[in-house]
Amino acid sequence: MYYPLTVRDFLDRAETVYPDRVGVVDEPDQPAPSLGSLTYREIAANARAQAAKLDALGVPVGGRVAVVSQNSARLLTSFFGVSGWGRVLVPVNFRLSLPEIEYIVGHSGAEVVYADPALKDKLDALDVPHKLVLGEDDDLYLPGAEPRPWAEPNEAATATINYTSGTTARPKGVQLTHRNLWLNATVFGLHMGIGDRDVYLHTLPMFHANGWGMPYAMTGVGAQHVVLRQVDGTEILRRVEEYGVTAMCAAPAVVSAALEGAASWDGEVPGRDRVRIIVAGAPPPTRTIERVLDELGWEFCQIYGLTETSPLVTSNRMRAEWDDLSAHERAQRLGRAGAPALGVRVSVDAEGEVLTSSNHNLDGYWEQPDETARVQAGGTFHTGDGGYLDDDGYLVISDRKKDVIISGGENVSSIEVEDALMSHPKVKEVAVIGIPDDKWGELVTALVVPDGEVTAEELIAHCRTNLAGYKCPKRVDFVDELARTATGKLQKFKLRQPYWEGRERQVN
Ligand code: AMP
Repeated sequence: MYYPLTVRDFLDRAETVYPDRVGVVDEPDQPAPSLGSLTYREIAANARAQAAKLDALGVPVGGRVAVVSQNSARLLTSFFGVSGWGRVLVPVNFRLSLPEIEYIVGHSGAEVVYADPALKDKLDALDVPHKLVLGEDDDLYLPGAEPRPWAEPNEAATATINYTSGTTARPKGVQLTHRNLWLNATVFGLHMGIGDRDVYLHTLPMFHANGWGMPYAMTGVGAQHVVLRQVDGTEILRRVEEYGVTAMCAAPAVVSAALEGAASWDGEVPGRDRVRIIVAGAPPPTRTIERVLDELGWEFCQIYGLTETSPLVTSNRMRAEWDDLSAHERAQRLGRAGAPALGVRVSVDAEGEVLTSSNHNLDGYWEQPDETARVQAGGTFHTGDGGYLDDDGYLVISDRKKDVIISGGENVSSIEVEDALMSHPKVKEVAVIGIPDDKWGELVTALVVPDGEVTAEELIAHCRTNLAGYKCPKRVDFVDELARTATGKLQKFKLRQPYWEGRERQVN
């Protein structure tokens, strides 16, 4: 007899097998709206209360619910309270500016927006039928509330729409189905060997490709979630010590923060031989990996993927065959994006673009059929990343074909920043590129042909009125002209060349 896979399965199992186990520990010193610690029974009761609230508001199956929130126990609960009963969760990056949030809420057609109290100002300004403040609207959390059952659970139904900055001026809504998320989470768990003794620290924002699927994966095996709102090396180590953290997914900036924290830590760094740090988002330098092995004594793992792939494509974890290698040799092997995950096929086309097929690639971009057809041309997903498969069959990401900058773990669409700069009257021409930077990985840099007198500060301030802070250029170089093709197209690779000279990889 067939029963569809849905994200509720993860919570149902945790509630059945581990009802009294603490499932999530919120920020320890956080006043309201922190929920403190919740058992899996309480998480499930909260999820049901949220679903019952959505019933009362008349939100149908398939209706969109946007959530603008920093990491919190309540945000975790909403992953199940919304999608678990057939609605579609739209997690929104809380760092976005109001016009950017308005665009996502409008484009997704969200009927309800949840926001955490810190973002109430933005919530007040939105024009949507229902606005709820996480933590203040108590009927979202009424224990005992029973929602209407999802009459026809369907694994092909959209569970989340994640907006991602990419190759277009506006972010695109990546539609992921229940099956996509389910398979991604279980395959991740298999490759990283997670289980009920794991304590997972959320150093990445959960809105990001759903925090690499961790709200589902960790819940399904009864592991404990520990919430982190602000990346800070000392705080990370403190939580590792206090809660016995065993795993965290991390962007390279989080790795740097943890190394900084360790440098000023009094005594032995906690978590030695226990913590797995699972790095994604950009290729980490070999030296950084060696430092993690030496200075933290944590296991270093790497994964590669995109929002569009749910996100797991490849994974790289220490193999028994490498036990006798030196730390440097181990670090070199771990510096690759990894081997294709179970059920995932990876190839590289003649132009060097990485292609992938699996059961967890996106269903499509919400209401953008042309973009969907473009990335799915030939029946395989085009990642926009450049790379190669080495002799071991491991993928190495060496370049980027798409016009995206990855700065501090966040994707920035060059076109979006160029549009913002072009709206300034003193900008004649502009190209936005990423240049290598030790702290940010890549630094958002604008090359500007000015039209009269204008300063870098003025241009950055102008961007800030429309764009999230992390997208605004950190550096502006004024130039006389920009390299273009005969047809007038910007030659970004030529513009990037002087900044990336002598580097093995053209991404950071
Ligand atoms: P996002 O959709 O925000 O998850 O960003 C996906 C992009 O991040 C990919 O297309 C890559 O450019 C980059 N990325 C993710 N993981 C890695 C990795 N392990 N190595 C290199 N680049 C990565």
